[in-house]
Amino acid sequence: MADEKRTELAQLGEFGLIDRLKAGATLRQASTQHGIGDDAAVIATGGPECLLVSTDMLCEHIHFDLSFHPLPHLGYKAVAVNVSDIAAMNATPTQLTVSLGLSNRFSVEAVDALYQGIHAACEAYNVDLVGGDTVSSRAGLVLSITALGRATPNRIAYRSGAKKGDILCVTGDLGAAYLGLQLLLREKAEFGANPQMQPQLEGHEYLLRRQLRPEARTDFVHELAELGVVPTAMIDISDGLASEVLHLCRQSGLGAALYEDKLPIDRLSYDVAISEFKLSPTTCALNGGEDYELLFTIGQTDYDKLKNHPDVSFIGFMQGANEGAVLLTTAGQKVPLQAQGWAHF
Ligand code: ADP
Ligand code: MG
Repeated sequence: MADEKRTELAQLGEFGLIDRLKAGATLRQASTQHGIGDDAAVIATGGPECLLVSTDMLCEHIHFDLSFHPLPHLGYKAVAVNVSDIAAMNATPTQLTVSLGLSNRFSVEAVDALYQGIHAACEAYNVDLVGGDTVSSRAGLVLSITALGRATPNRIAYRSGAKKGDILCVTGDLGAAYLGLQLLLREKAEFGANPQMQPQLEGHEYLLRRQLRPEARTDFVHELAELGVVPTAMIDISDGLASEVLHLCRQSGLGAALYEDKLPIDRLSYDVAISEFKLSPTTCALNGGEDYELLFTIGQTDYDKLKNHPDVSFIGFMQGANEGAVLLTTAGQKVPLQAQGWAHF
């Protein structure tokens, strides 16, 4: 083994590793319409609807911190982030499986609390928990969820479908979940230094909720159907807007331009970013992550159907690949978008 080649994961990067895994995955089934590379895989059923499948794993110490993440919220979040990947395909979630790695640090009551959140999310998103697996873990709590969903093929939105001139849109607001995390980490550090201290979190409930108990935008998928709009491309915002825009660009073979002054940032996020953390609200929106909003592109002819929607922001447009993926700042500069990639490695 000693003289075998060793390549660091960080050297390959997230795009590189997934490309490598995809290259090794030979597709043998005619029913596999779309494999690795999107928010969910798409499988033909023989009926009018396709089956969608997506998996996401959350690991303690990497994705969550049980010292400030209440177990019911964690259960809810684990379901929401998986449902979000089904929503990102413009599909309807239907079933879940939940796999747990548990240590003896956990009691029955703790597992009940986690499942209280899982069941609440199943009710909120109208999905059924249909299976899973339970094993012991020495590396803290591990939660892996697989979500299934359905959609007719003509409504499915892939990351690769954007066209030059399409309008880039986003639901909700960005950056709040990241700021919620910064508040929680700050309080944890201060409590560690002085356990008598009372947490200073009042008035920041919105930011905390966005971090601890986010919602998937299945509501918006219904609205798109009612409005008669099929996005040309869509992705959910798990790693930050910049990173997701780069995914759409890469997979659609295009570039994009974002207007800094069009980024949807909640008033509270804006104030907390500046006054409490001396962070640029734009950076929080671009690179914060965990917003679980939907980023999508529409053809210009669909603009009228969405232009008055109170929860949609039109943040930019798709352009030729040679023009790059850029932020047009309020100061009139053109700044290339940077992917955050894997902070975890
Ligand atoms: P998302 O952020 O939407 O959850 P990811 O970035 O995790 O998506 O994954 C991108 C794509 O790569 C998805 O199609 C996913 O199924 C696939 N993928 C990720 N990890 C693996 C793996 N270990 N083996 C096979 N496919 C993977
Ligand atoms: Mg996704």
